[in-house]
Order: sequence, then C-alpha cells, then structure tokens
Amino acid sequence: MTTGAPRTPIAECLFCRIVVRDSPADIQYEDDRVLAFKDIYPKAPLHVLVVPKRHIAGIQTLEDSDVEDVGRCLLAARRIAEAAGYGERGYRVSVNCGPEGGQQVYHVHFHVVAGRRGAHG
Ligand code: AMP
Ligand code: ZN
Repeated sequence: MTTGAPRTPIAECLFCRIVVRDSPADIQYEDDRVLAFKDIYPKAPLHVLVVPKRHIAGIQTLEDSDVEDVGRCLLAARRIAEAAGYGERGYRVSVNCGPEGGQQVYHVHFHVVAGRRGAHG
C-alpha cells in the first residue's frame, strides 16, 4: 500500500485551510485521507467537492505516491452520491485541470454533481 509522501498544508491554499478548519465549509464527509464539503456556488441540487487532506495541486502534478489519496477521493465520491440518493439515478464526478481546463483552486478536487438534467456538462 502506498501511503504518500507527507505534504505540508499550504497556508495560502483555500482547501488546505478548509481541511484544518481555518476556513468554514459545510462538511459532508470526512475520513483519515479525505474531506468533502458543499460547493459554495452549487450548479445542481447535489454539488460536493471531494479533496485529499494532503495538498496535491492538481492532476497535472500527480505522482505515483498520490494514487491512494486519489482512489480514496473517488470512493468518497461514490459514498456521498449514494448517501444522497443518487446511486441508481447516477451522478457526475469531474476534475478541472489547469487554466484552460477551468481549474480555479489549485488543490485537486473532485466535483460530485447530481440532480439536475443538463447541469452535468
Ligand atoms: P474549479 O473551478 O474546478 O477549481 O472548482 C473550484 C470550485 O470551488 C468552484 O466550483 C467554486 O464554486 C468552489 N469554491 C470556491 N470557494 C469555495 C469555498 N470557500 N467553499 C466551497 N467551495 C468553494
Ligand atoms: Zn491545499
């Protein structure tokens, strides 16, 4: 099992600050590796962001040692969607990567979006 190299929380990183409770968030799920909270500007009835507690800037800088964290984020995404009642109906899990990929916050995060037709594109 990979445990991932330790990464220091980045003081200027909004999602690191949410992880250590320096910034407020509506937390939906937490385990030892992962935190999930409601997107502040939801695009659908369910719009949760799932982040690894370790700071990983994005898919662009992903390393082998990050695989466990990313996998755990996806498992959390599934649990959140199922707990919200979207297991059968379906949901979208997406990651924006870099400036032209629409990434605004450089701490990797998985958008979990469900509940509105047409809001998933
Ligand atoms: P992205 O464009 O993929 O980097 O997504 C960043 C997301 O973070 C956007 O959907 C924002 O609405 C959301 N966001 C920004 N600030 C906060 C915050 N303080 N709490 C929760 N979500 C936030
Ligand atoms: Zn961070």
